[in-house]
Amino acid sequence: MNTANQVGIRGPPDFNSKPVLVFWETTRACLLSCKHCRASAIRTALPGELSKEEGFGLLDQISGFGSPSPVVILTGGDPLMRSDIFELTEYAKGLGIKFALSPAVSEKLTHEMLMKLRDSGATSISVSLDGSDKATHDSIRQVDGTFDRTIEVIRDSVNMGLGIQVNTTVMKRNLHELPEILHLIKGLGVRVWEVFFLIKVGRGTEVDDISQEEYESVCNFLYDASRYGVVVRTVEAPFIRRVAKTRLLNGNYWKEGLYDKFNSELTRLEGEPTQDSTIAPRGTLDGDGIVFVAYDGTVYPGGFIPVAIGNVRSGNLVNIYRENKLMKDIRSRNISGFCGKCDLNKICGGSRARAYAATGDPLASDDACVYEKLTKC
Ligand code: SF4
Repeated sequence: MNTANQVGIRGPPDFNSKPVLVFWETTRACLLSCKHCRASAIRTALPGELSKEEGFGLLDQISGFGSPSPVVILTGGDPLMRSDIFELTEYAKGLGIKFALSPAVSEKLTHEMLMKLRDSGATSISVSLDGSDKATHDSIRQVDGTFDRTIEVIRDSVNMGLGIQVNTTVMKRNLHELPEILHLIKGLGVRVWEVFFLIKVGRGTEVDDISQEEYESVCNFLYDASRYGVVVRTVEAPFIRRVAKTRLLNGNYWKEGLYDKFNSELTRLEGEPTQDSTIAPRGTLDGDGIVFVAYDGTVYPGGFIPVAIGNVRSGNLVNIYRENKLMKDIRSRNISGFCGKCDLNKICGGSRARAYAATGDPLASDDACVYEKLTKC
């Protein structure tokens, strides 16, 4: 899946009454079959997919959150597999709803299609790049030539003035390529890099995750990477905000070998940092500022947490978001384990999706975070 937190979060937000982002998995259909796909996408639409009229209804519900409306991220699968996708974007535009798309880099994403996307009023699109070269990226995406196509799409989008964000999923296979990926996309003119961390759902269950210490090294690297003119965001690693806060207060506290390696590679490729970090002090969490609507209308706190909290066919998204108990518990940080006690859980809260994947409880602690160990040192 290409999902994208495509809107910057600034200031002290109140996510109790409405999310900033609604992810809508418009379809599960996709021509690719990526190793870590959350949706386990298939080539044809699944029965039960929301119809065009039901899609209009969902957009009406979203506008019910009030102005300004949450931004809708049209994701999948590949949203371009829906023949009515531009009717849906037109309807969203008519309601004053901003939208972005996460298309797959398949044969459908031609130059003409990019122009159509730009002219549709999309604020941006996001594409996935999981390696700094063909060998890594194409083996993860499982389609030869996808790396070259992705680079072409990025170049084309930048040239035509279509906002483009690059998404990278961190896993053992590409961990050491992160500085090179940043260098590559920065050179191509990309200004937003969204880094996803693995959650064991969909095809992601078969992919090797990284250790707690590696998470900390990557987050420290991303803090540094955000000082070179590229906005860096993370998905399912909210503890980057703890890392950013600690770095601001205490300077460079993390001396682990992998981080040192990242650091010297980044300096070799990009020189000394040019500005302050762009890591936002407060951001979203599954259920807190974001909500996910699946292809069949089922609502989840986020795209990686398979705990159904309602369905837009029988309920209203505004009520589900505001009133569902799990959503309220997440937003009030009614969580257990170390995340529940953590002095920084208001700005972080831990990945609810990872907690669920590890324990079956979406309100448990996030076991990828090293903070408990650090506080005992
Ligand atoms: S312990 Fe939990 S809430 Fe605290 S920083 Fe780590 S993940 Fe975030």
